Amino acid sequence: MTPWCISRRLLTSAVLPMAMAVLPLPAVAQGVDVERLQDESVRWVQEYLRVNTMNPPGNEIAGARFLAAIFEREGIPYEIAESAEGRGNIWARLEGGDEPALILLHHIDVVPADERYWTTDPLSGAIRDGLIYGRGALDTKALGIVQLAGFLALHRSGVALERDVIYMATADEEAGGFFGAGWLVENRPDIFENVGFLINEGGGGTMVDGVASFGVEVTQKVPYWLRLTTRGEPGHGSRPNPSSAVTELIAALDRLRQHEFPARVVPAVDVMFKGIAPGFSEPWRTRFADLDRAIREPGVLAELQAYQAGLHALTRNTCSTTRLMGSDKINVVPPQANAEIDCRLLPDQDPEEWLAELANVLGTEVDIEVLMGFSPAVSTTDTDLYRTLAAVTDRHYPDADFVPQVAGGFTDSHFFRDLGIVSYGYSPMAPPQEDGSGVHGNDERVSVENVRRGVAMMVEIMSRFAAERPISEE
Ligand SMILES: [Zn+2]
Repeated sequence: MTPWCISRRLLTSAVLPMAMAVLPLPAVAQGVDVERLQDESVRWVQEYLRVNTMNPPGNEIAGARFLAAIFEREGIPYEIAESAEGRGNIWARLEGGDEPALILLHHIDVVPADERYWTTDPLSGAIRDGLIYGRGALDTKALGIVQLAGFLALHRSGVALERDVIYMATADEEAGGFFGAGWLVENRPDIFENVGFLINEGGGGTMVDGVASFGVEVTQKVPYWLRLTTRGEPGHGSRPNPSSAVTELIAALDRLRQHEFPARVVPAVDVMFKGIAPGFSEPWRTRFADLDRAIREPGVLAELQAYQAGLHALTRNTCSTTRLMGSDKINVVPPQANAEIDCRLLPDQDPEEWLAELANVLGTEVDIEVLMGFSPAVSTTDTDLYRTLAAVTDRHYPDADFVPQVAGGFTDSHFFRDLGIVSYGYSPMAPPQEDGSGVHGNDERVSVENVRRGVAMMVEIMSRFAAERPISEE
């Protein structure tokens, strides 16, 4: 058992008894019928999946209106803002005390689905064998509804809140979030005053062979999407010069291919690997327990890349060459050639320093244009919110691992980490690992059981973290 595991056990046992205690019902509290919320949530997931918010074009306003109708019925004020025609964002606020506010965030848009490869209509929301099918079931409409249930539980309970809780659903995450979370941060900074915490997609449970493990995403690799340009003398393909825009570009990309960005283990990655190590068989168990030592052994990094490319990517900055553009005529030497490369930086990497390293590798003939790049940020795990997520997860999944995670991909959370908001990727659902292939893939689905359990857990999380006293269940 690692020191980390010991501290988690101590932590959960310290937190649990308080929450299990039955406190007297405050006079204003109505109590919350969790079973009713679970029934409603299953129906809402189905209905939400039927709202077509495939991005492009997104048309998230349809999803915002769906959520607005629920707020109307509950008597909760909300706001809708369109960042562009049809690009709807919606948020609602429950007011509480002065503690830093919490945002429950999910994105309304989903990626397109190719119906030919599905066994159901991707917009059906149909339930088959206890599973709800539809594009967005896991990414992230079910999470949005589970969060909604926690939010409504606070409202229905009538219990006074220690902090504001803001429910937020945004556009455009699947295309970078610039019409959604990024737009709100730019254009509605008022919403984020005194916000301290945020729960978003990007982490949560996975079930492997009947054993659940949970991760809370606390940071992510930082994308740098770059366009490289070379220029040269244009001409006829029958009369080549010693070099051209295209040959210069190829040479630069080959230098990039051969360049090894140094491997190093940043603290968040070290904690994550120590946490997941017990779930692996040897030699990985020992290697992950001391990753810093393991990656110095010859051949281990290459072995890790072949074994788990996603985990390997957490040990270094990476670049994938993904787009190439030269002449559009076979017999014309073009004046210019371009490549686009998808680079991901370790969460503590200074981007300027790294760009200088890259420029050095590529050479002076190459112009580098940053198409997209974020600033790096890590959310601390030393918060009451993190401890609450750990305690509630432990109560429902007592045998599950619970580890802070570094994501290789990115979510909207970076917009909020940039504002200093502690942002966690966490979902109180544990779908089987094989269902993960449905995210952006075929037959995306979530079980009714996961939605129901998720609702119960989210109600508990809200009750412990946001309510002045635990809300009672009817
Ligand atoms: Zn997503």
